[in-house]
Amino acid sequence: MSMYNKKSIDDIEVKGKKVLVRCDFNVPLDGETITDTKRITEALPTIKNLMERGARVILCSHMGRPKGEFNMKYSLAPVAKKLSELLGVEVPLARDVIGDDAKALAAKLSDGDVMLLENVRFHKEEEKNDPAFAKELASFAEIFVNDAFGTAHRAHASTAGVADYLPAVCGYLIQKEIRIMGGALSNPVRPFVAILGGAKVSDKIGVINNLLEKVDTLIIGGGMAYTFFKAQGYEIGTSICEDDKLDLARELLEKARAKGVNFLLPVDTVCAKEFSADSTPVTFPSNALSADMMGMDIGEKTRVLFCDAVKNAKTVVWNGPMGVCEFAAFAVGTETLAKAIAASEATSIVGGGDSAAAIEKFGLSGEITHVSTGGGASLEFLEGLELPGIAGLQDQ
Ligand code: AMP
Repeated sequence: MSMYNKKSIDDIEVKGKKVLVRCDFNVPLDGETITDTKRITEALPTIKNLMERGARVILCSHMGRPKGEFNMKYSLAPVAKKLSELLGVEVPLARDVIGDDAKALAAKLSDGDVMLLENVRFHKEEEKNDPAFAKELASFAEIFVNDAFGTAHRAHASTAGVADYLPAVCGYLIQKEIRIMGGALSNPVRPFVAILGGAKVSDKIGVINNLLEKVDTLIIGGGMAYTFFKAQGYEIGTSICEDDKLDLARELLEKARAKGVNFLLPVDTVCAKEFSADSTPVTFPSNALSADMMGMDIGEKTRVLFCDAVKNAKTVVWNGPMGVCEFAAFAVGTETLAKAIAASEATSIVGGGDSAAAIEKFGLSGEITHVSTGGGASLEFLEGLELPGIAGLQDQ
């Protein structure tokens, strides 16, 4: 079974069939106003395609953490309203998930119609992947379509469980994720350069391990670099460091050497006395920081080094900021790298909340081949793990 080669809605007949579509409508709300509708607009191509082809479309999603109880604070009503607006047809919202109202609405669907079930997390069985609940959900439809990449790493009833009872394929969002990320992992155009940053090595051990098997160059920036520096005996001052990961850092460096992977760490570091936005930035060589300062960003020489590697790449994967990008004075490394990735001709893949936000903030989305929609899910995908929400889909 391959994680990268799954049937999509293009590969199946849907006319007149009831199709249960798992979307990610977990949108940010301010009261009942959706403050960012991206997740809804991105889901439209799959939904419209199914409607145009005469499917009877039953949408479902989670929203927030209602802890397995009906709580109208987490109702999908604002989503139903926005969907109706965007699709130009009324999208009725069931008052329940698998109850009488949902069943009555589903029974009324004609070819090309669409409806939305209430928040699947109103049932505690959802996150437990309870088979009876999954079977009940599945009983609404003849086909299951998963298009919620952001929750594909969770084995929940509406993401994984239903695929035990229905023929299951992916929608266009998951198709794009697995085509582009899967392509990079299984058959990358070289040189293949991966850039990892963010706070902790421990969050990304699996990703580093898997990518060391595949890349030509692995670049480490951000807070996680200091663990690698301390592991080599360098002075890191008061920088964040995971002391219980020093051996692991040495092993990873050794693995890179053994595999012939070019392992790039910062050569200079922008430091500060305190972890604050207005602390004065001072640059030091990365192997000798001041004992009373902490590393906050990559320095100018490092920016040139990392950007040069990106310039020559044909495939780039980026996950995690190069510094404390929340503070403007320490966001330069992240911004410079984001721009270099956008300017490169390489197939570029960006994942993770902060990196994706940086791309968006600098208006670079159009220049990136693929900005992954799922933080945790894209990390697990890059780790080479089997995602439950994808594993159960039919192979091509
Ligand atoms: P992650 O969620 O693991 O991708 O990490 C993102 C976080 O890492 C951001 O909030 C950054 O502020 C933080 N970060 C990046 N570089 C550093 C650093 N040098 N020191 C402390 N935190 C950092």
